[in-house]
Amino acid sequence: MKILVMNCGSSSLKYQLIDMKDESVLAKGLCERIGIEGSTLTHTPAGGEKYKVQKPMPSHKEGIQMVMDALVDKDHGVIQSVDEISAIGHRVVHGGTYYSESVVVDENVKKAIRDCFDLAPLHNPANLMGIEACEAAMPGKPNVAVFDTAFGMSMEEKAYLYALPYEYYEKYKIRRYGFHGTSHTFVSGETIKFGGLDPKNAKVIVCHLGNGASVSASIGGKCVDTSMGLTPLEGLIMGTRSGDIDPAIVQFICNHEKISVDEMLNILNKKSGVLGMSNGISSDFRDIDEAAEKGDAHARAALDAYALRVAKYVGAYAAAMNGIDAISFTAGVGENDKNMRKKICAYLGFLGVKIDDERNNVRGENRLISTDDSKVKVFLMPTNEELAIARDTLRLTQ
Ligand code: ADP
Repeated sequence: MKILVMNCGSSSLKYQLIDMKDESVLAKGLCERIGIEGSTLTHTPAGGEKYKVQKPMPSHKEGIQMVMDALVDKDHGVIQSVDEISAIGHRVVHGGTYYSESVVVDENVKKAIRDCFDLAPLHNPANLMGIEACEAAMPGKPNVAVFDTAFGMSMEEKAYLYALPYEYYEKYKIRRYGFHGTSHTFVSGETIKFGGLDPKNAKVIVCHLGNGASVSASIGGKCVDTSMGLTPLEGLIMGTRSGDIDPAIVQFICNHEKISVDEMLNILNKKSGVLGMSNGISSDFRDIDEAAEKGDAHARAALDAYALRVAKYVGAYAAAMNGIDAISFTAGVGENDKNMRKKICAYLGFLGVKIDDERNNVRGENRLISTDDSKVKVFLMPTNEELAIARDTLRLTQ
């Protein structure tokens, strides 16, 4: 079975065609600048050259048609006919309180995705457009929605309720949802398998440290707590997002700078995090690391604050689960930055965490990076959200 995985943003569309026989990627690609002048498709068949097509894409519909054309192209394609695609798996950011698992799309599912537009105004409309464009391009093929928020649905009320007047939960479903759920599900599951841990009771912390970043605590793969909230703004310090702050700061800056709450939210989402703390150096950890090495005090402060915040969450989750069996690092920073992994783990000696420098000197592969006598196993565990989406799609449509 060949499964097409789609991740639609407001002006972009990423895809992978995966052969579930051996879970190999047959082709992947990206449509950029959908609805904007200069739309481009970049298609890469496995083991082949990148192939670019520039053609207007007024909407996702034209984008998906171009993906279909590229997949069957006689020179750059990887299948003979679109009929070889058995099903399509879609990343959908917000499932609200409707879905705690992936689901085959029907009219009710589309309505629920629409009902959550308010909760994810940038993502859910684009995700729905992608689904509808695939329905039009491949009539009769099943589409599966895989929700970023599904993992967080197993949190208990004590973890998901904010200490706000209860009426806001009742009226608007204001609660903590958590994001990066597909990655947290995948990595916690792989950690249990790879680490030979008890599938029902293993207490696992996943540090998904990418451009966006979040930590999760799970027992037997079921989420107990996770650091993102109603939106992805809560929790860790990220590339450009502030993570946790005193909410009174919003009012203070709005009053003093004469800006609106919307403008302030834009600052918290796009100009804060390590970008803001480093006084504008970069949101990319490679640039911040380089500046810190050259002695830049702001860059060093940003890295120190970043590591401290992650460590504080791990400490809190150790308490929430009354212990930890394993910690896994994943995503761009977690998979590539051995110094950051070491810096975070340096705070966790009280839990019996000991990093082995030689084992930690690794990138992009499943690996134990703690010493044999470390009380908590620490792993590097690359995430693979596309494969997780494809596996769910296969399970639900086979
Ligand atoms: P997202 O999917 O959230 O956009 P990724 O998981 O791809 O992000 O992570 C991207 C980030 O990973 C980059 O912004 C960069 O900060 C970080 N990164 C990538 N490679 C390295 C590296 N070699 N050293 C440190 N950080 C890295």
